[in-house]
Amino acid sequence: MDAATPIDWQDRAARLSFRTQIFIDGRFVPAASGKTFECLSPRDGRVLTRVAAGDTEDVDRAVASARKAFESGIWRDRHPRERKKVLLKLAELILENADELALLETLDMGKPIRDSRSIDVPLSARCAAYYGEAIDKLYDQVGPSGPDSMSLILREPLGVIAAVVPWNFPLMMAVWKLAPALATGNSVVLKPAEQSPLSALRLAELAIEAELPPSVLNVVPGFGETAGRALGLHMDVDMVTFTGSTEVRKYFLTYAGQSNMKRVSLECGGKTPHIVMADAADLDLAAQNAAGGIFFNQGEVCNAGSRLLVQESIKDAFLEKVVAYARDWVPGDPLDWNSRTGAMVDQRQHGRVLGYIEKGKAEGAVLRTGGGAARTETGGFYIEPTVFDGVSSAMTIAREEIFGPVLSTLTFKDADEAIRIANDTIYGLAAAVWTKDLSTAMRAAKAIRAGSVWINCFDAGDITTPFGGFKQSGFGRDKSLHALEKYTDLKSVWIEL
Ligand code: NAD
Repeated sequence: MDAATPIDWQDRAARLSFRTQIFIDGRFVPAASGKTFECLSPRDGRVLTRVAAGDTEDVDRAVASARKAFESGIWRDRHPRERKKVLLKLAELILENADELALLETLDMGKPIRDSRSIDVPLSARCAAYYGEAIDKLYDQVGPSGPDSMSLILREPLGVIAAVVPWNFPLMMAVWKLAPALATGNSVVLKPAEQSPLSALRLAELAIEAELPPSVLNVVPGFGETAGRALGLHMDVDMVTFTGSTEVRKYFLTYAGQSNMKRVSLECGGKTPHIVMADAADLDLAAQNAAGGIFFNQGEVCNAGSRLLVQESIKDAFLEKVVAYARDWVPGDPLDWNSRTGAMVDQRQHGRVLGYIEKGKAEGAVLRTGGGAARTETGGFYIEPTVFDGVSSAMTIAREEIFGPVLSTLTFKDADEAIRIANDTIYGLAAAVWTKDLSTAMRAAKAIRAGSVWINCFDAGDITTPFGGFKQSGFGRDKSLHALEKYTDLKSVWIEL
């Protein structure tokens, strides 16, 4: 797929149909209450459709369906080769329906069609294929039990997994959860974010087409305080796998304590430090990455490089470059293939980000570019790429996750100070360091408390590397073979010979 692809995305969007009901037992059904909610497009603020508002009763039905599937063994007891076949088929179907899925994603959450089509959808397919490929190549263990006995250490699926996902990468976050959970034989109830339910509902249909038995995957769109809460408190859910804000993650810990002590795996927010040392080999490349690291996906990325830490001696010259690259990220129509950024997910998020920009100014940070709403004539929720200079660690824009296109620049004298500032946060999702000096790079990589550290690059990696946080960025890992661990339990079998 490249810029020359002759697709009229506006025309395709006008002809798109939506799945809008709850997916239980392999069928679309209305909410028990009959209630629906508006699904708005952030592109122009218009109503795309109305979607069933799942609540406690719907969650009960979805969990019962998933439980029935699990207990029947219809999926859990399938030969791993057969589970592999289904996941590989699902990956194929995601690619076959890539244009449609990309459009759903773009219309629903506002990201540029080029990103949806060339990043979100293919990476979701690759993730499904990766876990499919993996599952018939994993062995259990035999313990060192001596000559008179034998011990087996077996991995077994947990049961019913509730996957509660955010709106910034709706399809990809769903597949990051579903693929390893399904590969290991679990049943799943997926709750997409209320801002972006459309691709998850289509995905459920594709899973049936891939011959996943009905009931193994159920999808309940709805609000966090209703459907999300009901899943968190459900006595028959064995595990919640969550990606979202640190604030909501705390609810899930409470829900688990208030109900059945279900396991929780929590991928949350971040305040990623992007460190640039004066000796970096290519400062221009670093500046390009500093801009891309915060403006990609409208800054709505958990590991966005939202704190730029630049060595004092190069700060002015470096920031000039970053400000110049920021111009490449001025938002455009999400349906235009040439747009690099689109709209914020909704009006609330738009207002929230603008509020942070005002707070930055009020607390004394220096606005270098951006700072306002954009494309207001469209009725959509756009924000200019914004760069602040003169930020200190005490300022709100250096401490809180903004989740928008706002970069806060701080300075440091030497590597020790850079590491200290990098760690001066409640978060620990990711960090990046640009330097030619191997020992500075490795010292920083070891000392920074974060789940991922990138050296001389930003947001690099693939499905083979675990992703998740230290500190209040959460616990548990998505991606890689390590993700399989959280969806399984160990069973020890001891045999006297
Ligand atoms: P959010 O926490 O508001 O919502 C996430 C999910 O939780 C949604 O499905 C929502 O409906 C549900 N939810 C909300 N309130 C709830 C409640 N009281 N009880 C139960 N469920 C509830 O997050 P968001 O605004 O959708 O997404 C943005 C956040 O996600 C950011 O903080 C971002 O950093 C984080 N994120 C993290 C990662 C990661 O891998 N670490 C990846 C993407 C996004």
